[in-house]
Amino acid sequence: MRCPVCAASELVHDTRNLPYTCDCETMIIPAVVGDYCPACNEGVLDAPESARVIAAMLAFVAFNKMKLGQLKNGIQTGWPAETPERSILMTSR
Ligand SMILES: [Zn+2]
Repeated sequence: MRCPVCAASELVHDTRNLPYTCDCETMIIPAVVGDYCPACNEGVLDAPESARVIAAMLAFVAFNKMKLGQLKNGIQTGWPAETPERSILMTSR
């Protein structure tokens, strides 16, 4: 499958540790299985894996907001909306 973002390369199935940065803090989401683009480093995950990553991110964002005393209504991640089967995951590299 070609990368849906840059269309420059075929996706490669891989397991990676994904860094995620929020409010200058970085976490690593370990062993994320997905199809990754060698050209732009975009990752395409299946639905369960995507849900796991998003849950980890939201927990991290909530933790940071609490730590900073800035807990507000709703959490904005700035991540693209999920498609029914797959979602596109931006990596920070
Ligand atoms: Zn790409």
